[in-house]
Amino acid sequence: MSAHDTPLDFIREIIAADLRANKNGGRVVTRFPPEPNGYLHIGHAKSICLNFGLAAEHRGVCHLRFDDTNPTKEDLEYVESIQEDVRWLGFDWQDKLFYASDYYEQLYGYAVHLIKNGKAYVDSLSADQIREYRGTLTQPGKNSPYRDRSVEDNLDLFARMRAGEFADGSLVLRAKIDMASPNLNMRDPVIYRIRRATHHRTGDAWCIYPMYDFTHGQSDALEGITHSICTLEFEDHRPLYEWFLRELPVPCQPQQIEFARLNLTYTVMSKRKLLELVTNRHVSGWDDPRMPTLKGLRRRGYTPESIRNFCERIGVAKRNSVVDMAMLEHYVRDDLNKRAPRVMAVLHPLRVVIDNYPPDRVEQLEAVNNPEDPGAGTRRVPFSRVVYIERDDFREDPPRKFFRLAPGREVRLRYAYIIKCVEAVKDDAGNVVELRCTYDPETRSGGSAESRKVKATLHWVSAAHAIPAQVRLYDSLFTRPDPDTVEDGRSYTDFLNPYSLEVLSACQLEPGLAGAEVGSRYQFERLGYFCVDPDSTEDAPVFNRTVSLRDTWAKIQKAQKAGRS
Ligand code: ATP
Ligand code: MG
Repeated sequence: MSAHDTPLDFIREIIAADLRANKNGGRVVTRFPPEPNGYLHIGHAKSICLNFGLAAEHRGVCHLRFDDTNPTKEDLEYVESIQEDVRWLGFDWQDKLFYASDYYEQLYGYAVHLIKNGKAYVDSLSADQIREYRGTLTQPGKNSPYRDRSVEDNLDLFARMRAGEFADGSLVLRAKIDMASPNLNMRDPVIYRIRRATHHRTGDAWCIYPMYDFTHGQSDALEGITHSICTLEFEDHRPLYEWFLRELPVPCQPQQIEFARLNLTYTVMSKRKLLELVTNRHVSGWDDPRMPTLKGLRRRGYTPESIRNFCERIGVAKRNSVVDMAMLEHYVRDDLNKRAPRVMAVLHPLRVVIDNYPPDRVEQLEAVNNPEDPGAGTRRVPFSRVVYIERDDFREDPPRKFFRLAPGREVRLRYAYIIKCVEAVKDDAGNVVELRCTYDPETRSGGSAESRKVKATLHWVSAAHAIPAQVRLYDSLFTRPDPDTVEDGRSYTDFLNPYSLEVLSACQLEPGLAGAEVGSRYQFERLGYFCVDPDSTEDAPVFNRTVSLRDTWAKIQKAQKAGRS
């Protein structure tokens, strides 16, 4: 089965070739290996879509494995949120949920195996000394004076490390490879360290913990992973990954393949920085709608489909690049355009009194739920003598090319009538507080005399029927596209956008939105896509703007195409 009509990317090429050669008995087994030290972000989504996607394309399974070898930074909260997020994205690991910590005993055995074969030794150098002895990219390293300890001594010391006889940091176990290797990862890497920390799964059972490099490939092999796909920064670790698999009696030989990580403009993606944003209260939490986390995007109104479509479109490559945030926004707009019901909401209300409309009259006007989806049907929207329109749809002194409402001008109220502005009522300070208008009863939408044309159609809500709401508008979290690029000692937090959140607390919504379910998504006509926030209460809904309607990505692409031809 091939879900792809586009040419194969380089990873799918490799897998296709492996299948043709009947490598791995025709099986494709992948894994997604998060470290439970933070919440998943849009970069992880790229890896999830790739790994779960590959497995599905070959009727295989993708394992979810927690890479939990660093007890001081990891937590159950993260383990749980990661599982929720992978499921929310639409993927299923079936019964293949694993933890690297489940392999601790096996990994310990592997370390003993290396010692017995003279391929690992206990080192007494301090961390600083080890760094010093390692050498640099241009200079070879020096052998540790403890490198030639006997197998017996090493076995004894390693057993006593495990038994808790030594202080944290006093001894480490190192692989004995080559201190002169041009690849620093091969200069006798540390594979075990002593650390008295309570692990979220193994508790205090261990006081020594394996390093990432000693854990990852062996875990892959133990699970029968065929293709171990990771990001480019592990390219230099591949010789080590393969060295361990070669030196150890592992059940199979997974293949490590590296691809470029996703970077996005106007945000940061490192979990350390995201955690800092949360702990230093620059955002309200991991699920703040401005965060690039899956929880944040979800709360903002992103659909799993939009994220999957985006990930499929960006594809996988070997070269690092930065993707325009506008492209991600394009994909959610594209998806919501098809599925989000249209409603009317006024964010900055201006009261409009229609003087010639009967005071007690209420008409239920028919409105289209989604022009993109005829099956979505219609609804009734109440119309009455007093309505709210958007404040900036009126100008007392309209500039050229402003075709909306102004004194003496006519506009259509969507699904309703043409109205004419007779007077702008002002308060003592000179602010316009109300418009007095008249309507033309012959111009009701859908009626026989509707044909009279005016230049603008405005959205509105009936004042007597509207429900008040809070609406939160978002801008990018950072003021520059590359907040990660630090210059003259400045940090990414120096580029936080002070205007990234704007709270509008006097908005008015059409009455059908009363009781809208948390997480449900709408298009507010002319304003963008909005999603009901969990902060909503029974009588005070809160909406997040997911994106505005203006598709800057489509524009950029159009301009690029025009430039090329
Ligand atoms: P950080 O460097 O911020 O700590 P990480 O890469 O260590 O992130 P992990 O939890 O180890 O985070 O990542 C799990 C998987 O997701 C890894 O296979 C990693 O390569 C992949 N991944 C992480 N970030 C990205 C990204 N920006 N683009 C693509 N894949 C990513
Ligand atoms: Mg990692």
